[in-house]
Amino acid sequence: MPTFAEVVGQERAIGILRAALANQRLHHALLFTGPAGVGKRTAALALASALDCELAPGEGCGRCSTCTRIADGIHPDVITLAREGAAQIVPIETVRAQVVAAVGLPPHEARERVFLIDEATALQPAAANALLKTLEEPPARTRFVLMTVAPDQLLPTIRSRCQRVAFAPLAAEARRAVGGAEAEPVVNAARALIAAADKGASEPGAAIGVAQGSGEPKLDVAAVIELAAIELHARARAAALDGDIVAARLAADRAGVLLAAHAAIAIHHGQGAVSLEAITLRLQRGGA
Ligand SMILES: [Zn+2]
Repeated sequence: MPTFAEVVGQERAIGILRAALANQRLHHALLFTGPAGVGKRTAALALASALDCELAPGEGCGRCSTCTRIADGIHPDVITLAREGAAQIVPIETVRAQVVAAVGLPPHEARERVFLIDEATALQPAAANALLKTLEEPPARTRFVLMTVAPDQLLPTIRSRCQRVAFAPLAAEARRAVGGAEAEPVVNAARALIAAADKGASEPGAAIGVAQGSGEPKLDVAAVIELAAIELHARARAAALDGDIVAARLAADRAGVLLAAHAAIAIHHGQGAVSLEAITLRLQRGGA
């Protein structure tokens, strides 16, 4: 059950949220920024619990009916705007049906209604504009938590309406605690995934097989993809700073493929839906 205490390695970000809650100065729209897999969504759910928990307001107990339903994604007042289709966008219809239509009404049962947007750059432009209008005239008892790995790609008007809370890249120790798994096979497989895409290797399966090693029957595919996406995102930024737009775009596109795959795993609540081999092929084709 996500509570603030369970967010690993983000003391600064959580400290900001706790202080804002304690002072009753929490902004109505928050923008959580930082690499994939560092705890932005866990923190967003923990924040919703802190806002709405029956037993431990301001912190969240993780056990009451409210906290449990928030964690399970079934609380009627804590709503994640879903991404749809192959392009994994949040369409305008979703913003209209779930946000705009609800704005004039009070929350169903909770003190505060919380809208979560897992990757704000996935908002279709029309959807972003519709959301912007709501952010400009914030409805009562309503909070927004937008998350993104790429704040620079958001509409400046969206950014300026939100209070930004930066999540740090995880230190290796914290990452291990989050994964709960041996880190090294994951790191090796992530490197192999990127290398196979770089080389255009004809046998990505072989590259992944080597990375997995003989003694690793069960690799955490989601963790591999997440790590490879972080690496490619860092490459894209570095290339862009160097003025190498072609390389930056290639790395960013590949990171996008990985993030889509990561989202697909999350949606299916398992790892069977996506194989590393299939992802490598997609990376080599250069598209999602
Ligand atoms: Zn609770």
